[in-house]
Amino acid sequence: MNLADIRSKFLQFYKARGHAIVPSASLVPENDPTTLFVGSGMQPLVPYLLGETHPEGARVADAQKSFRLEDVDDVGDNRHTTFFEMLGNWSFGDYWKEDQLAWIFEFLTAKGRGPEIDPRRLYVTIFSGGDGIARDDESVAAWRKIFSASGIPAEYAEMGAEEEGSARGMRADERIFGYGAAKNWWSRSGTPSRMPAGEPGGPDSEIFYDFGTPHDTKFGAHCHPNCDCGRFLEIGNSVFMAFRKEGKGFSDLPRRNVDFGGGLERIAAASENEPDIFRISAFRGARAALEHASGKSYEGNERAFRVVMDHVRAAVFLAADGVAPANKGRGYVLRRLIRRAVRFGDALGMARDGELSAVARAFIGEYKEAPPLGYLLEEHAGRILASLAEEEKKFRKTLREGLKELEKMIGSAEAGGPREVDPARAFFVYQTYGFPLELIQEELAKRARSVDVRKFEEEARKHQELSRTASAGMFKGGLADASQKTTRLHTAHHLLLKALQAVLGPQVKQRGSNITQERLRMDFSYEGKMTEKEQREAERIVNEKIAEDLPVIRSEMPRGEAEGLGAEREFGQKYPERVSVYSIGPKGATPADPRFAEAFSIEFCGGPHVSRTGEIGRFRIIKEEAVGAGIRRIRGVIE
Ligand SMILES: [Zn+2]
Ligand SMILES: [Zn+2]
Repeated sequence: MNLADIRSKFLQFYKARGHAIVPSASLVPENDPTTLFVGSGMQPLVPYLLGETHPEGARVADAQKSFRLEDVDDVGDNRHTTFFEMLGNWSFGDYWKEDQLAWIFEFLTAKGRGPEIDPRRLYVTIFSGGDGIARDDESVAAWRKIFSASGIPAEYAEMGAEEEGSARGMRADERIFGYGAAKNWWSRSGTPSRMPAGEPGGPDSEIFYDFGTPHDTKFGAHCHPNCDCGRFLEIGNSVFMAFRKEGKGFSDLPRRNVDFGGGLERIAAASENEPDIFRISAFRGARAALEHASGKSYEGNERAFRVVMDHVRAAVFLAADGVAPANKGRGYVLRRLIRRAVRFGDALGMARDGELSAVARAFIGEYKEAPPLGYLLEEHAGRILASLAEEEKKFRKTLREGLKELEKMIGSAEAGGPREVDPARAFFVYQTYGFPLELIQEELAKRARSVDVRKFEEEARKHQELSRTASAGMFKGGLADASQKTTRLHTAHHLLLKALQAVLGPQVKQRGSNITQERLRMDFSYEGKMTEKEQREAERIVNEKIAEDLPVIRSEMPRGEAEGLGAEREFGQKYPERVSVYSIGPKGATPADPRFAEAFSIEFCGGPHVSRTGEIGRFRIIKEEAVGAGIRRIRGVIE
């Protein structure tokens, strides 16, 4: 079943059950300076989940356009996309688990209702309990009833942590799988023990589709729903917001909410029993256009095809919502998407101005019939296509000029000039022309025997963009600079977050950040203004930790493990299965023995950082101000 059919059937289904259908919000968030793009159906509805009354009533459903830049590195496999649509339904203090789970199962499986997915292919997970919260037996009971009604045996299996799931495996009669807080608990700050007082949260229940493909033991001894081998695909999640954190314990929320989100493309893939999302009908036209433009076929070139198709589709929707290519912010993201699509397209043999437009046109055609998304694309088609074509042209010019400049350098090196291409000069090409780093590396490796590629790569590594900037909306390996000063400020940034929590309370969460050579800037959640005294105290703590010259250690681990350590994460951020974590302190900690329990700070972070806090220098807060309701902004420098 195609996207338009599933989307409209979903909205019809929930409308018939008393839901107000609200239109998709723009990809550019309104009244929220802290995020660049809307990344989930929940995001525009957060105020109502936190207690505000929704003008449309207690039952709401929608299909929300979403864009997640943080998934860009995963694009190329068979299931990740940066742009997607999320089907959502919400109960604000109205229906609860039994209705939610029964309805979504009915929608997914019943004849004539929705995508008509084979119910025997569905598996579900629930919260197995922990951190002072009991197992979600209500959901177990609801699921048992639902599966039994379809004649499907539905035993419960306790999996605990994900790794234990792999050790245990699945039995044929098991359908309902209990996992711990890292997998089946929702709150804005992570697991129950991480939640500050007053924060709402609750268990969730995910639905997985089983493609029945063979398990890959690279991902563990046995397969289970949360295994990453590709056999199971998560197609939806029901969050049950039931609790509020009080000191160390929990109270029941006066108004319980249901939040459901399901990836439309993934549901379509399940409905076609097609493990490759890029083979569903929504991509058919684009794939043909790209095959025509490149003379290559999708088979055997999957990764490049997927990147081009994903990036062009995302670019079309971003442009439709008014984003134009630029050198910063949202426009920069769009520019990088288009340029990356050109690069991957050229690697396929595309290499002509205007070829991307053909792919874009295929998407506009594909969505044409579906209101209101399609109307928006059709209405702005002229502008969207012109914007893409212009950026593609500009980039090709950049490529030509940068290549010429590189050739000059390589030529002079070979003609008895300096024996090596100066890495700094190669960087000049990179920075001035916006010439892609990977291309310079390729060119150097391919053509210049006399060039020390390693040296260039070393220089490149130093210039890799800060992960902070990446998560604030930029591509990794983009144009930002990571000089010594920025690296020092980045480590100070980690110290400052902990210092703010020490002074203002653990509820303080980072909501945005930006680091340049001159200063760091951090947005954080806090009601009220910081007093002068509080600012001085935060500053004092940072400088104390600098004076202690603590080791800064990078570790890699599964995401669940980092969550278990209580590593600080960014608001609304989604992380890959394996993450990089930076911990600061205690004295004597080493990469082999990071002693996380005694660390001063632990954060999800890609770095880079100084190796000891003593390298930072003296830290000073220069400004503290409001940037939105409950959001403060702080600026600091090092001297
Ligand atoms: Zn598996
Ligand atoms: Zn960091």
